Amino acid sequence: MAEAPRLVLATRNQGKLRELRELLRGQVPGLDVDTQVIDAAAAGVPDVPETGVTFAENSLLKARAVFEATGLVSVADDSGLAVDILGGAPGIFSARWAGAHGDDAANLRLLLDQLSDIAAPHRAAAFVCAASVVSPELEAVEEGRLAGTLLTEPRGANGFGYDPILQPAGMERSCAELSPEEKNAISHRGQAFRALLPHLVKALS
Ligand code: IMP
Repeated sequence: MAEAPRLVLATRNQGKLRELRELLRGQVPGLDVDTQVIDAAAAGVPDVPETGVTFAENSLLKARAVFEATGLVSVADDSGLAVDILGGAPGIFSARWAGAHGDDAANLRLLLDQLSDIAAPHRAAAFVCAASVVSPELEAVEEGRLAGTLLTEPRGANGFGYDPILQPAGMERSCAELSPEEKNAISHRGQAFRALLPHLVKALS
């Protein structure tokens, strides 16, 4: 018989679900990550409007909404690209910078065009992620940041979103030229979820 779900991740993104399952594997006695950690679609929770103005607010409001709908330990993340010379934009608007929600190629092209006159020393940017957990006993938010420089042309075929144009500090490759394992080890999302792990273990124990 299938075990009852114990944790819901507020996303429909299967890549994020896979990453969370790997992070939790073996960390909580008795938790079967493959059947008891599910996504919002599997839990029957509709998309939550992102009405906050910071990554932390959006992440927390998604986790709270899923917790209210399911009564289960709920986890959410919100992330984006913050460009120094644009005062932190696209920021929370990263997924819809060019208008249509989630058109990665159009978003990346618009950003490159906007920065076409800006020389390398002024192209600092960072991926930022806030990850949250909400349970009957606790609420927690943790942030991660991957700083680097924006390239002038996309490089590499891995990853998604703005990965082909962010070169992490101290590296000669763009994020899209890293393997998933290499990126996860340094990424904003990896950092935020690793910082969230103790809270998750507590919420599930
Ligand atoms: P969300 O947190 O899944 O809503 O992501 C927001 C947007 O930020 C994505 O659509 C991407 O454009 C961008 N983004 C977030 N994390 C990454 C990343 O790791 N690589 C590239 N783009 C990212």
